[in-house]
Amino acid sequence: MRTLTTAREIDALERPLVLVPTMGALHKGHASLVRFGALMARRNNVPGGCVVSIFVNPTQFSEQSDFARYPRTPQEDAEICRAAGAAAVFSPSVLEVYPDGAPARVPDLPAVAIRPGLEDAHRPGHFAGVCQVVLRLFELIRPTVAVFGEKDWQQLQVVTAMAARESPGVGIVGAPTVRERDGLALSSRNRFLTPIDRGRALALSRALAEAIRHDDPERAQGAMRQTLAAESIDPDYAVVRESRTLMAIPTGPTPETCRALIAARVGSVRLLDNTSWPG
Ligand code: AMP
Repeated sequence: MRTLTTAREIDALERPLVLVPTMGALHKGHASLVRFGALMARRNNVPGGCVVSIFVNPTQFSEQSDFARYPRTPQEDAEICRAAGAAAVFSPSVLEVYPDGAPARVPDLPAVAIRPGLEDAHRPGHFAGVCQVVLRLFELIRPTVAVFGEKDWQQLQVVTAMAARESPGVGIVGAPTVRERDGLALSSRNRFLTPIDRGRALALSRALAEAIRHDDPERAQGAMRQTLAAESIDPDYAVVRESRTLMAIPTGPTPETCRALIAARVGSVRLLDNTSWPG
């Protein structure tokens, strides 16, 4: 496996290639994305294989303190990528991604990024930073396919919509969420949960399991809120939306593909989870 840091090195890689973009502090969820990307590359005789980018993007953090405390574990990350079959890891500096401090282009946000009541209401500017860095990484790395996790469902829809308009040559593929045995979705931020909050955090996956038992959206939302409230968790949102557009579900027959989505602070850690709905 090659370890690359400069735009010049990444430019010299064989194409086509498959990209798995990450912010590092890798865990088994990321590893499954890399295995998936490497398998896809092998099966389709993709000469560049699967490349993992590791870049903590400053422009998608609204709080500087959150950026500063974001975990960084470069040695462990390289080992995980190697074991999962990556051909290369690309860990550029901020200057390499945004040379001379020149701001990279921020594409127009797709409508799905600014749906009321979801991420934008709680992290304004976040998806502008995500779209900016993803577009910039696509420019630098020139992948044919990029793999994103369903764990960040709204992000997956935003990147899919953005790529269709801005980078039509890049196919966006979603990969399923990896969980701990007790149901907690793996996240780089889980390490900041205190033991008590680690127990309370299970309310998110329990709330989703409750939601899929109801085929009425209002009831499903009520069940999620009740399950979270039992652990004194007041979510940023706990909603059922249409899967792709993330629009509220109109009254009448329920669309075929919907998603139940939760974001909630547990102690000092903001967690996200989602599932297809109903069961
Ligand atoms: P991050 O480094 O947290 O920005 O995540 C990099 C990629 O890994 C994103 O596409 C995430 O959606 C994905 N990811 C994060 N956690 C998980 C998980 N538990 N299972 C599967 N994919 C994940």
